[in-house]
Amino acid sequence: MLPNNILLANKINIAIDGHSSCGKGTLAKYLAKALGYVFIDSGAMYRAVTLYLLRNKVTLDQVKMNPNILDTIYISFKYNFETDFFETYLNGVFIENDIRTMEVANYVSEVSALKEVRDFLVILQQNFGKEKGVVMDGRDIGTHVLHDAELKIFMTADPIIRARRRFDELALKQVLISFDEVVENIKKRDLMDTTRTESPLMKSDDAIILDNTNMSKEEQARVALSWAKGVIAVS
Ligand code: C5P
Repeated sequence: MLPNNILLANKINIAIDGHSSCGKGTLAKYLAKALGYVFIDSGAMYRAVTLYLLRNKVTLDQVKMNPNILDTIYISFKYNFETDFFETYLNGVFIENDIRTMEVANYVSEVSALKEVRDFLVILQQNFGKEKGVVMDGRDIGTHVLHDAELKIFMTADPIIRARRRFDELALKQVLISFDEVVENIKKRDLMDTTRTESPLMKSDDAIILDNTNMSKEEQARVALSWAKGVIAVS
């Protein structure tokens, strides 16, 4: 057991990166709650920008030509005590459900490959990390956004297992989609995220790999929390 005074005094940042639908968000939320930290879902920020561009019919070329368009976007997170969830808001409007649609999922990797979009969001994400005590999940958190994070975890799992988990999640939300479409979306996002020029998804040299193909959520949570406490104890 780590005494509470050490937990409070030695706040660290935790970066969780990895492939799509690996359970990064679930693990990040769990760690944030267990440690009393703030959870930042950087993927939700890329989804929010994507939703904004779709809704306002702004093309990627227009963003490239005039990156100032992005300055009209304000993204925030609010904790909902009832759902026990940090929910995403775009210019003050609740968008948590709208950013999880397949329309957004199919376009977000193209949007997030734009340097202008990344430059805009990375500054916001780094500001969140300044005070420490943040768990942030994404693709470039350990390599770029919080490159000095004290604990970096790189999550991965077999793509078919990931697609199955995602499919089950969507089915629960009654989203009509075939399993093959989910597999295709996951593979497409993996390819785009790992091959893009701007901050591609890769493991930071100092990140610990967590392959959860054959692990339950509880096992992952236990392992990651013990890593975090180990780092906090010596920070
Ligand atoms: O994590 P999530 O799947 O919600 O992220 C949506 C998309 O946002 C990813 O497929 C990826 O293209 C992009 N992303 C990113 N960098 C991050 C987080 C997400 O490029 N730090």
